[in-house]
Amino acid sequence: MRHRIAVVGSGPAGLTFARVLHRHGHSVTVLERDPSPDARPPGGTLDLHEGLGQLALDKAGLLADFQKLSRPEGQAMRILDTDGTVLRDWRPGPDELANPEIDRKQLRDLLLGPLDVQWGRGVTQVVPGTRDGVLVSFADGGQEAFDLVVGADGAWSRVRPAVSPVTPHYTGVTTVETSLDDVDTRHPELARLIGDGSTAAYGANRNLVAQRNSGGHVKVYATFRAPLDWHTNLDLGDAEAVRSSLLALFDGWAAPVLDLLRHGSVFVHRPLHVLPVSHTWTHVPGVTLLGDAAHLMPPLGAGANLAMLEGAELAESVAVDPDNLDDTVRAFEERMWARAGKWAKITTAGLDRLVSPDPTEALALFDELQPS
Ligand SMILES: Cc1cc2nc3c(=O)[nH]c(=O)nc-3n(C[C@H](O)[C@H](O)[C@H](O)COP(=O)(O)OP(=O)(O)OC[C@H]3O[C@@H](n4cnc5c(N)ncnc54)[C@H](O)[C@@H]3O)c2cc1C
Repeated sequence: MRHRIAVVGSGPAGLTFARVLHRHGHSVTVLERDPSPDARPPGGTLDLHEGLGQLALDKAGLLADFQKLSRPEGQAMRILDTDGTVLRDWRPGPDELANPEIDRKQLRDLLLGPLDVQWGRGVTQVVPGTRDGVLVSFADGGQEAFDLVVGADGAWSRVRPAVSPVTPHYTGVTTVETSLDDVDTRHPELARLIGDGSTAAYGANRNLVAQRNSGGHVKVYATFRAPLDWHTNLDLGDAEAVRSSLLALFDGWAAPVLDLLRHGSVFVHRPLHVLPVSHTWTHVPGVTLLGDAAHLMPPLGAGANLAMLEGAELAESVAVDPDNLDDTVRAFEERMWARAGKWAKITTAGLDRLVSPDPTEALALFDELQPS
């Protein structure tokens, strides 16, 4: 590749982009702010959809490896009433491979493979149109110029200001995440409640979801409508205080459901922010965005999938026609905006129904999406 290409961020978008370019024999500079791959906990399990994340892995030549690692049984979904009554209990058939789950760490390691990521290279600013090309500034004071800079640096992208003045806004919905380890041996009753996949209970303007990851690890998400500063009088670093506050919020729910919070260890606050639905920008030569940096949306199972497919598609287009880099990127952006806009509408409407004053909305949504 005679062009100097950099991707900022080694999340699902950036790594898929780099890996597909690598597969086509092209090198790309991967710039990542984290000092090492395991600097932060990797986050919960991801379901990769057949026509999105799995298609991207196919383009990277990694689908067979994914199939060995992924958990089709993790697609199971149980819905409980707040009194613990089982309302729905869906389990995938043996050939159901539409949305298998994979741990984020496993996915990251799969994508990383032979890639040479520059860890600890936080980008602070990107300036297109300089004499040397697109100028990237780093937190350590260094600078480097490229012909194409791909911003795959997530919700609070430092590349985005080079193409768009828009920043994420709060949805009015927040999540507090906790986790359980060795659930099968330490909490066998909770293990049965959760099953092989996810268990969710929906109340008015709040829900509790538990998702099994590999190795007996479970992530629990308490999601509710609240102002951004709901925790003003709460020390978020004090696990017991956060637990009490959540137990009060979910007061009256069945004891086994609340045990998900009682046994949780660390609590992490994740207010849900989004970019406007159908976020686009006037094309800027030399800079583009992928994934959450381009279209942050509610976490309803699409974000990583879109991020990966976009990474794969842009890399393929660049590899096939490296001589027309700018036209290629421009055409890619049009495709990305159309697809992401559709998903942003779906996930925004979905969030409203999953965290609704009327909890039957969540059940109705599940029934509409239920595989037949
Ligand atoms: C609770 C929760 C559950 C979810 N579940 C699912 C799911 O089941 N399925 C699904 O498809 N999606 C899911 N999502 C959404 C998904 O996590 C995101 O959409 C996805 O991670 C976006 O990938 P990305 O590569 O665009 O960004 P990110 O994953 O955010 O990666 C960005 C990378 O850029 C790096 N970075 C940031 N700033 C800089 C900088 N200045 N310089 C250099 N590097 C930088 C970061 O360290 C990070 O490595 C979920 C999200 C949440 C919060």
